[in-house]
Amino acid sequence: MTEPLLRATGLTRAFGGVHAVDGVDLAVAPGRTLGVIGPNGAGKSTLFHLISGQLPPDGGEIHFAGRRIDRLAPHARARLGIAIVFQGARVFHGMSVVENAMVGAHAATGAGFAAAALRLPRHRREERAIAERAREAVRRVGLAGWADRPAELLPLGQQRALQVGRALCSRPRLLLLDEPASGLRAAERERLVELIDELRAEGVTIMLVEHDVGLVGRVADRVTVLDLGRVIAEGTPEEIRTDPAVVTAYLGPGPTREGAAP
Ligand code: ADP
Ligand code: MG
Repeated sequence: MTEPLLRATGLTRAFGGVHAVDGVDLAVAPGRTLGVIGPNGAGKSTLFHLISGQLPPDGGEIHFAGRRIDRLAPHARARLGIAIVFQGARVFHGMSVVENAMVGAHAATGAGFAAAALRLPRHRREERAIAERAREAVRRVGLAGWADRPAELLPLGQQRALQVGRALCSRPRLLLLDEPASGLRAAERERLVELIDELRAEGVTIMLVEHDVGLVGRVADRVTVLDLGRVIAEGTPEEIRTDPAVVTAYLGPGPTREGAAP
């Protein structure tokens, strides 16, 4: 069996009395897509923030590419190849589409403000390389025609695609997508699903939070179901759809629970 690219064991994080993530174990094999589903408040975003480093865990361990990473700062994890698109992420206003994507490359290379302020030759070379990378990422997500236009003028669906482009600009080994399709219209969702599918075909390892179980089933190799901070089921999309615990907690019985999906 291949060693997982990412492995979390006993991952735990509370906010006051709320056990947002409560002893979560999961593993993602290299090149695979893991869907993470669960009702609102199940702990999905908290789990992603623990992996990307925005939040320190109270307990448990995270191993990535053979290293323990749960005490590393977010930028250190970014340099190891973890990129995240946050839930509800917005583009930076007053910046072009390419400039938005460049922020992702800076996150991964650590090329920072000090070097920029000093205008070192090495810095200028890096900037050119990063700009080239950003253009490539922007093309990759279908926004070549928008490259030099203000990002805030993009329709919402394309703003999401740009967020994915920004993350891709860091050439991630693991891409964390937290509800990238929420709020999008059907055609926009469809384009995003196609993009995720293409990335998957190229071998990018992906973790995807999505409310729409049907959508997850189309792109995910495996699915982990969270409820109240715990993993209540794990398996192929097909196994998940018919899992009694999932049907009770998440999929049914009626439209009374927030986050329920057909
Ligand atoms: P999901 O993404 O599945 O909707 P979250 O991870 O956002 O769930 O939230 C899980 C639980 O943790 C919820 O009860 C939420 O209110 C709580 N929570 C999340 N982030 C914070 C925070 N920064 N401060 C306090 N409570 C939080
Ligand atoms: Mg969330």
